[in-house]
Amino acid sequence: MKNWNVIHFEDIDSTNAEAKRRAREGLRESTLFVADRQSAGRGRMDRKWESPAGAGLWMTQLFAPENIPAKDAGGAVFISAAALAETLREITGAPVMVKWPNDLVLNGKKICGMLAECGFEGDKCAWIALGTGLNLKKDALPAELIYASSIEAETGMQLSADDILPRYLAAFDSICAAWQTEGLGAVIARIRPLSATIGSDVRVDGEYAKALDMDSDGALVCRFADGVRRVLAGDVSVRGITDYV
Ligand code: ADP
Repeated sequence: MKNWNVIHFEDIDSTNAEAKRRAREGLRESTLFVADRQSAGRGRMDRKWESPAGAGLWMTQLFAPENIPAKDAGGAVFISAAALAETLREITGAPVMVKWPNDLVLNGKKICGMLAECGFEGDKCAWIALGTGLNLKKDALPAELIYASSIEAETGMQLSADDILPRYLAAFDSICAAWQTEGLGAVIARIRPLSATIGSDVRVDGEYAKALDMDSDGALVCRFADGVRRVLAGDVSVRGITDYV
């Protein structure tokens, strides 16, 4: 964890919101904001992210990448996905998978969501706030989240943030370095074998397709009824035909 300043909150609105406030004040050092509870955690498209007290690892990494053009900043979502999936596999031995673009799933259920938000200076990415919500404890989430689960519910293991963070951050730093020197293709190559989406029948914003592959820029290559198209990791929802994955 040597490269990360850790700032801990018992209670906060959202660690991504805090990271963005600090980034706009000029903070550029690699900083990890962790909270025991978020009162207004968010997923993509402003959807609510449930973050009950002590039930998960609710965190945001704020960092300033070197030499990442604004148009490539979105690739950051794949770094945390690859790093956390690999770390959780090592720690638990369970087949944690990546649902495109960056949810982590275990046994077909969502155990982790991620949200990247970026700031730009000219045509460069100035900072990235990379939020991760990893469910650790069972029975902590509202029952209506039928596709949600946790490490404890799926593996029986009771992990704490301290069990995960040192290994996760080391994996993150190494994958992030590869991103900045070799490009996103190096990151995608690590995700491909862990992808729950490649090879699956999916709905892309409700339209049926077969997910064929991920391009080296992170796009999901899908065969639709009218032909093969690339789906960009932006504001689309990809779901399984009958289930979450
Ligand atoms: P997706 O990328 O799967 O479309 P998001 O990353 O935007 O979804 O996450 C928000 C959605 O995740 C919410 O609308 C809700 O259905 C679900 N959700 C909220 N909190 C949790 C949680 N702690 N664990 C799993 N799923 C959650």
